Amino acid sequence: MATNQQTKSPPCAVIFDLFGTLIKFGVQQHHPFRQLLKWARENGRQVLLVDARTVMTINGGIDAIGDGLGIKPPRELVQRIESEIEDELSSLSLFDDVIPTLNALQTRGIKIGVCSNLAQPYGAVIGRLLVNFDLEVFLSYELGTIKPEAQIYESILNRFNCDPEHCLFIGDTFEADYAGPIAVGMNALHLTRSGVSQHYQISSLVDVLAYLDGDNR
Ligand SMILES: [Mg+2]
Repeated sequence: MATNQQTKSPPCAVIFDLFGTLIKFGVQQHHPFRQLLKWARENGRQVLLVDARTVMTINGGIDAIGDGLGIKPPRELVQRIESEIEDELSSLSLFDDVIPTLNALQTRGIKIGVCSNLAQPYGAVIGRLLVNFDLEVFLSYELGTIKPEAQIYESILNRFNCDPEHCLFIGDTFEADYAGPIAVGMNALHLTRSGVSQHYQISSLVDVLAYLDGDNR
């Protein structure tokens, strides 16, 4: 039997981004919060750089997010946004490589986390698509911090009680899912489903298993 001296010790936890990594949209995205901010601008409130962060760190629905932004959108706009979010949510599905990859990780006894920057109304996706897995969930609106801020990765390390070098983060956004985790000492892989050009990139989640099996890059 071949020895596999290249094999690394298994990670304590693998953490995945959600949208574009585990989950895909089946409809054109409506960008409802851009519409909310557009309405605000048309009604005399300037768009602020921090607005996207505000939207993703308020643990409440459209009205609470409006309060956080300091705006009071009309009822019909709130209802339109809610129905567009529902349209998006009902279109979501898992990429084909998700279930085999998560099953293989769980079989190996590796803990799994999901970490996403998202507005609270989108949080329903976890219960709709990922109920069959034993996941730790790290969501910006629950934690009050967004990727790539260090605090969100630190909350992952705290909850898993893992050293950063024993955590592997995977996602499709370079800053949020690769550079941010690397900055706190985690390992990370940048998922680029269209093809890879860098040693730290993978084009499928199946490649995570090969990486753990000793492809050290
Ligand atoms: Mg993503």
